[in-house]
Amino acid sequence: MKAVVLREFGEASNLRLETLPDPRPGRGEVLIRVHACGVCYHDVINRKGNLPRTHVPAVLGHEAAGEVVEVGPDTPGWKVGDRVATLQRLSCGECALCKSGRNSLCKKDNRFFGEEISGGYAQYMTAPVMGLGRVPANLPWPVAATVCCTLGTAVHTVRTRGRVRDGETVLITGASGGVGLAAVQLAKLDGARVIAVTSGEAKVQALREAGADEVIVSRGLDFAAEARKRTGGEGVNVAIEIVGSATFAQTLKAMAPGGRVVVVGNLESGKVDLNPGLVIVKELEIIGAYATTREELDESLRLVADGKIRPFVAEAVPLADAGKAHFRLENREIAGRLVLLPQDTQ
Ligand SMILES: [Zn+2]
Ligand SMILES: [Zn+2]
Repeated sequence: MKAVVLREFGEASNLRLETLPDPRPGRGEVLIRVHACGVCYHDVINRKGNLPRTHVPAVLGHEAAGEVVEVGPDTPGWKVGDRVATLQRLSCGECALCKSGRNSLCKKDNRFFGEEISGGYAQYMTAPVMGLGRVPANLPWPVAATVCCTLGTAVHTVRTRGRVRDGETVLITGASGGVGLAAVQLAKLDGARVIAVTSGEAKVQALREAGADEVIVSRGLDFAAEARKRTGGEGVNVAIEIVGSATFAQTLKAMAPGGRVVVVGNLESGKVDLNPGLVIVKELEIIGAYATTREELDESLRLVADGKIRPFVAEAVPLADAGKAHFRLENREIAGRLVLLPQDTQ
């Protein structure tokens, strides 16, 4: 098979098309013919050598979608022809956390596709079935590939962890990225009033189209006063914190009493000052949100297939262009997701 192999961490041009032996599925695994694989900023970080669990030579890609062409032993319920998409990470399905539905916290099996497990920048990949969701028949492959890492994360954040309810006001920071635009649409679908915060005027249109009721353009990141003004002085019930340390203090100031802050991103990996007094007198909840479960991926794929949430694919390119795709992503030339087409290769 053809695959894009990273033999040395570093430049985008290190991603090169090679011929590798076809993989075979082991116990609990299926073999997937990969029809599409999203290129995520996480892959850029991985390519540079900043993820300690990846060892070269490596095949990157955790946003794969395709059809099952062979099933290994111990894969009940899976058959040749099944349409699948990968989760970001695995879980064991058997520990106390998994049994309570919190698979994204499992420590017994926390392997990632594109890190410990060979990923989707290839014509074929093997995948443990614990890491797969089911793709509805009418969903195009490039769309299916990108759902998990955008809408899947938003479902986990807005619904599972944030418990956003009809009539609540939801503030979303970093709203114009892939997770942000999905979160805006989902919160609207669930009946919330959405205040989106973004750093640039150029992104306002996309946020309006996603359904944001209010858009605050905040270059200096001082949006709390504006958010309070736009809620009649009340503050917001829920904040989806996608930016993290850079906006956290303002987000706290924007909260209504009893508010819930769901932290899902920390782009600059920074720390924050927290005044416990504020948390006490407002009875604030600060909630973490991480990755996606299989049920949430299935739910997300259905939401897109039913036309309730708009997908995020900007462009699909041949597998051999993986290096170029990384270069463009790093240089911020892409709005939305770039997708590789592994079957489209010479
Ligand atoms: Zn991703
Ligand atoms: Zn587990």
